Amino acid sequence: MSRVRVLILNAALGPLDYSVPDDMDAPPGSIVKVPLGPRQVTGVVWDEGRLEGNPVDASKLRPILGVYDSPPIPETLRRLIEWTADYYLAPLASVLRMSLASTSGYSGEKTITEYRASGGMPERMTPKREQALELIGDSQGIIRELSEIGEVSVGVVRGLVKAGALEPVDVSLDAPFPIPDPAFGPPTLESGQAAASARLVEAVRDREFAPIMLDGVTGSGKTEVYFEAVAEALRMGRQTLVLLPEIALTEPFLTRFTARFGCEPIAWHSGLRQSERRRAWRAIATGEAMVTVGARSSLFLPYPKLGLIIVDEAHESAFKQEEGVMYHARDVAVMRGHFEQFPIVLASATPAIETKQMVEIGRYETVTLPGRYGAAQLPELTAVDMLQDPPPRGSWLAPTVVRAVEETLERKEQSLLFLNRRGYAPLTLCRTCGHRFQCPNCTAWMVEHRLLARLACHHCGHVMPPPAECPECGAEDSLVACGPGVERIADEISALFPDAKTAIVTSDTLWSPAKAGEFVQRMEAGDIDIVIGTQLVTKGYHFPNLTLVGVVDADLGLQGGDLRAAERTFQQIMQVAGRAGRGEKPGRVLIQTHEPSAPVIEALISGDAESFYAAETEARRLAGAPPFGRYAGIVISSEDEKQAFETARIIGQTAPKVDGMMVLGPAPAPLAMLRGRYRQRLLVHARRALDVQSVIRDWIGDRDWPKGVRVSVDVDPYSFL
Ligand code: ADP
Ligand code: ZN
Repeated sequence: MSRVRVLILNAALGPLDYSVPDDMDAPPGSIVKVPLGPRQVTGVVWDEGRLEGNPVDASKLRPILGVYDSPPIPETLRRLIEWTADYYLAPLASVLRMSLASTSGYSGEKTITEYRASGGMPERMTPKREQALELIGDSQGIIRELSEIGEVSVGVVRGLVKAGALEPVDVSLDAPFPIPDPAFGPPTLESGQAAASARLVEAVRDREFAPIMLDGVTGSGKTEVYFEAVAEALRMGRQTLVLLPEIALTEPFLTRFTARFGCEPIAWHSGLRQSERRRAWRAIATGEAMVTVGARSSLFLPYPKLGLIIVDEAHESAFKQEEGVMYHARDVAVMRGHFEQFPIVLASATPAIETKQMVEIGRYETVTLPGRYGAAQLPELTAVDMLQDPPPRGSWLAPTVVRAVEETLERKEQSLLFLNRRGYAPLTLCRTCGHRFQCPNCTAWMVEHRLLARLACHHCGHVMPPPAECPECGAEDSLVACGPGVERIADEISALFPDAKTAIVTSDTLWSPAKAGEFVQRMEAGDIDIVIGTQLVTKGYHFPNLTLVGVVDADLGLQGGDLRAAERTFQQIMQVAGRAGRGEKPGRVLIQTHEPSAPVIEALISGDAESFYAAETEARRLAGAPPFGRYAGIVISSEDEKQAFETARIIGQTAPKVDGMMVLGPAPAPLAMLRGRYRQRLLVHARRALDVQSVIRDWIGDRDWPKGVRVSVDVDPYSFL
């Protein structure tokens, strides 16, 4: 009998030793079932000598119970998992979990039983049953999924199964996926595009690590160009992963992909049903899935022969995970390319300063597209000074913008109004006593959602019906909405243009790829004249008849002022501006601002991106901010305010004195309370060359905190709340 060390899928436990029965083969990477006390748990056999653990006496070793009939986790991925855990100071098991994706896809099951409406009615109909059947409609899924769709308990769904109103269906987990055909619909590339794609194709062929920034304005054909690299990977029989920042972008991507390659790629996102997840996981792990498109969580899946990763809209902060393992998918993608020796393409019209700096120092190469494809011209950007050209009282759109919308309507073209705020109004207060509605669990205002008739907290999801009277002073009809959200802008538009067809696009309305698909169809059919949307509509979409973009509040993103505020504002407005005039008709962009002379607004108007980047980069250099220096955030939280405060104080007091490192805080976090937990923050600021992770590990790594206290470390943070 031999001995192996197994990484268990439970972050609280370290790796454990087991014996391998003589008739069993369990090389490193094998996914195994092992005993743990009275339970059986899943783990992965790890390479000898790489994980610390408490060696168990040979006589006390328990044997592995079984090896799953699934490809092992590849060695390079095991190295990536170690690297990620190390760099982001996360438990190895938490990173490994992302690879196995809680799918049980490795279990070897061939089918899964789902349920769907049988067409029959239960003998005994109740209001709950009726509601469930109504909502479930044609959907199919496991019991838990149907209970979610039907908005009823699992018990109600089980009852419907028993009563015969829902019938079982066996879904195969091994059904093959179609294979994309690189020769299906190749485009005719323009010369600049052809040169760019030739370089990407060559990089794929070389099978070497090559981080490449693909830079080109919106509409320059970045997608067409990187599709050629995907085609090359296909011809070589290597897998490709395309990472998108949001799942709403999946749908338009699938359509374009199908036009180019004849079938859809595998989509990986949080909206998949369990059967779809398991089937996709298996196809990925066996190497059958040639192209996967997914959100950041698809990065850690066990592709055995990855040959290319594309990170589309690579500047997006949505690639940074803000809970659990707080990794940045763009940066980890580059590491994966390094471990597995293939190119990574970071595509963006507005690259992150971090990425540009890597090009600057020669670590990344750059491939540039010259301009917009075909006859399409970049739109003209104009600032609308809200002090010179103010909206009437109680409205939010300047007369110039209203006129532009009107002209666009007359020309039968489409407009897009962008405001990065969901709901009707960000704050509700009592006119009589000034009471403001705050979330009971968070340091945040309750946001009014008029369409859903409720107030909601955007941090914890707490909801309440809009009260008829003020809870503080009892005054009736005294509540007023302060400030605009997209719903309020939509109201203003409907009042101005009662015949125009409008659509509100936010994560509330476009929460699934299917919903996004519907929206795209309505836009293409001309069924929408005016879109009012959040950042969700700013990227990816291509609507040739959309010729006007209005930015409702360009100053919004500059408030709060974290280190990337100006950069983010620039990127967001460039992206949304990029939706205008993508076809033959020219586009225009109107930017409402109270500060037309702010450097970021001036850069947008003049189109001088390079000076803006240069100035921002220089400011970062002077401040020692990323990418020239490094930050790490430490958040201490507890339901007990005093305990959070005390722990933070102790952490602050024991901060090591290290040359080139500074510790700021502790202080109450800007989000001083979140989900009922009090939060204290420290910020570590260090020289770039310093191994902050080691310092932090020695400082707080192995300490035991009072029960109920959570200490989380965020390396290279994007959020400073
Ligand atoms: P980007 O990703 O840079 O914003 P896209 O790849 O979306 O640009 O291209 C913009 C539009 O131009 C798309 O509709 C795309 O299909 C079209 N396009 C770009 N290049 C070509 C080409 N060589 N042949 C045909 N259509 C193209
Ligand atoms: Zn809340």
